[in-house]
Amino acid sequence: MICLKDIVKTYNKGKSNAYEALHGISLEIKDREMAAIMGTSGAGKSTLLHILACVDRYDSGEYTIDGQEMGKISEKQMAQERNEKIGMVMQDFALVEGFTALDNVMIPLDFAVRGHRRKRKKRRERVLKMLELVGMKEYADKQTKNLSGGQKQRVAIARAIANDPSIILADEPTGALDSATTREIMKVFHDLNEQGRTIIIVTHDPTVAEECGRVIQIEDGRILFEPPKTQAGE
Ligand code: ADP
Repeated sequence: MICLKDIVKTYNKGKSNAYEALHGISLEIKDREMAAIMGTSGAGKSTLLHILACVDRYDSGEYTIDGQEMGKISEKQMAQERNEKIGMVMQDFALVEGFTALDNVMIPLDFAVRGHRRKRKKRRERVLKMLELVGMKEYADKQTKNLSGGQKQRVAIARAIANDPSIILADEPTGALDSATTREIMKVFHDLNEQGRTIIIVTHDPTVAEECGRVIQIEDGRILFEPPKTQAGE
């Protein structure tokens, strides 16, 4: 469970060009939710996503993942949390173009998680399983520069789930794809969500947002009113 309470983020704090980008964001995202974050350019979506992804710090408020407060842990612990719990997918795929699909997905596994690094053979088996999950096993040995946009995004998703994170954060994952490929990639996210992962997608695309169970609207660093959802059993 992800919980944000009154999160404030100011860029260039203490300087003449200080800018408060998030003005007190409170938000709960339950395990296994699939949520879209929408808002106009400059609304604070990337800032929020970077905080959720533990790549950026906030100035005040509380951010907890499964009860653990992210503001109270060291950089090293934060990196570890990120490695174990969070997978990131970016609009431009962020793959190493000269590497094969297999070697790209291998990258997060080459970093030891809590000091335990799997043997190369085991890592390879795991990578092939991840590529199979996204329908890319037969492309394992292809260089990613020779793949289509949709295939690249599948490889990037396989890389994001390589360490078996419970949360996947995606920043405009379909922004560079045509509508047919967007549908295919959304199907991959749905499958991962059905397998129990929490998915949070920043998007400009209303068709992508509609497919998510929940749409969080952010404007000028604030969350707009969200209609309350009916609780199960009510
Ligand atoms: P979005 O992703 O919704 O387009 P951002 O989170 O990137 O919005 O930006 C929110 C606001 O914070 C914008 O006004 C932007 O100019 C400002 N901002 C973002 N990053 C920085 C930074 N590194 N330094 C100063 N201001 C920033």
